[in-house]
Amino acid sequence: MADIDTRIVDPPIIRFQCPKCGHDLEQTIAQLKSSERMRCPGCGVGINIDTNRLANAADEIQKAIEKVPPEITIRFYR
Ligand SMILES: [Zn+2]
Repeated sequence: MADIDTRIVDPPIIRFQCPKCGHDLEQTIAQLKSSERMRCPGCGVGINIDTNRLANAADEIQKAIEKVPPEITIRFYR
């Protein structure tokens, strides 16, 4: 085994950019599921998250976890 400090994030974190100001946002799936709407700390815009899409994203993330890095980038379009 390589001597690398590999760190698997659990729960997985979804990183995406604010569709309005491009601020880097970071949420866990649990946080995303707990609230249908989050607010961008950069510009204060409310971001609606499609829970159906989120479910698909979660599946994709589960697959992505098996790879490195265990991160996925999602963009939201208006
Ligand atoms: Zn923003």
